[in-house]
Amino acid sequence: MVAQVIDGKAFAAKVRTQVADQVAKLKEENGITPGLAVVLVGEDPASQVYVRSKGKMTVEVGMNSYEHKLDVETSEEDLLALIDKLNNDPAVHGILVQLPLPKHLNEDLVINSIDPAKDVDGFHISNVGLLGTGQKSMVPCTPLGCLMMLRDHHGSISGMDAVIIGRSNIVGKPMAQLLLGDSCTVTIAHSRTKDLPDVVRRADIVVAAVGRPEMVPGDWIKEGATVIDVGINRIERDGKNKLVGDVDYASASENAGAITPVPGGVGPMTIACLLANTVTACCRANGLPEPEGLTA
Ligand code: NDP
Repeated sequence: MVAQVIDGKAFAAKVRTQVADQVAKLKEENGITPGLAVVLVGEDPASQVYVRSKGKMTVEVGMNSYEHKLDVETSEEDLLALIDKLNNDPAVHGILVQLPLPKHLNEDLVINSIDPAKDVDGFHISNVGLLGTGQKSMVPCTPLGCLMMLRDHHGSISGMDAVIIGRSNIVGKPMAQLLLGDSCTVTIAHSRTKDLPDVVRRADIVVAAVGRPEMVPGDWIKEGATVIDVGINRIERDGKNKLVGDVDYASASENAGAITPVPGGVGPMTIACLLANTVTACCRANGLPEPEGLTA
C-alpha cells in the first residue's frame, strides 16, 4: 500500500479561509474585529520566527494583531501586569504567551494568569479541566489541528484504536482527551512504555509527538493505519539542513493508509487553529454563535 498524503498545508489554507470569512462577517454584521495579542519575552530565534508568522497570518485573515516584545530580563511582575492589561482590553480576544519563557519566569503562574476565555493556546488549568471533563473549552492548537485532519480524512473516528506517542501537556495529553471525546480507544505511550513497537502496531491511528527524528519505523505501522506526525526535528543530512518528523516517512508510507508529511502536515494546522481559536473566543465574548467546524 502507498499511503495517501494528508496535505496539512492545503487544509490549513482552507481553515484560514473559513476564519477570514467569519472575521468579515463579524466586521460587517457586528462591527467587531477580532484581536490576537502575542507576547514574546526574550530573543529566542525559533520563537521570533513563530511570532512573526503568527502576526502575519493574523493580519492576513483580517484580524488585529498586537505584538508585545519584552526584554529577556523582564520581571514576572511586569509580565503579569501586561497580561492583566490584555485581560481587561475589550479589543483583545485572544492572548498567547510564546513558550518557552526565560528560566526566571514561572511558566505555570504566567499561563494561569491569562483570562481562560482569552487563552487561545488552551494551556490554562481551567481549559485543561474543561477539556478533560468534556465541556466547552479553548482547545490546544496542535492537537486540535490533528483532530480536524483526522475528522476530515475519516469522517468518523469512533471506535478506532488510537496510540499517541508522547504525554506532554501541550500535545500528548490534550490529544488523548480529544480522541477520547471522539470515541476512540486511546493509549498514551511514553519513554517508559514496554514493547512500544507492539503497542504502535495495534493502532488504527498513530499520533507521534516525541521530538526524536524518524524514531518510528515503517514496520511499527499497521497496514492501512493513519499516521499523524507532530514531530519537528532539524537534522543535517548529506551536508544539508533538513526538517524531519518523528516517523520515518519513507518506510511508514509503505504501510500506512494515510500520513502527514513533515514539513507541510501538522505544522501549518497549528497556526490555522490559533486563528480559529481567536475567532471562536471573539464570538463567545460577544455572545454570538460559534463558527461551525472551527473547534472540537
Ligand atoms: P516533549 O519533549 O514535551 O514530550 C515528548 C514526549 O515524548 C514525552 O512524553 C516523552 O516521554 C516521550 N518520549 C521521549 N522519548 C521517547 C521514546 N524513546 N519512546 C517513547 N516516548 C518517548 O515534546 P512536545 O510534546 O512538546 O513535542 C513533541 C514533538 O512535537 C517535538 O518534535 C516538537 O517540536 C513537536 N511539536 C510540533 C508542533 C507543531 O506545530 N507541529 C507543536 C508542538 C510540538 P516521557 O514523558 O516519559 O519523558
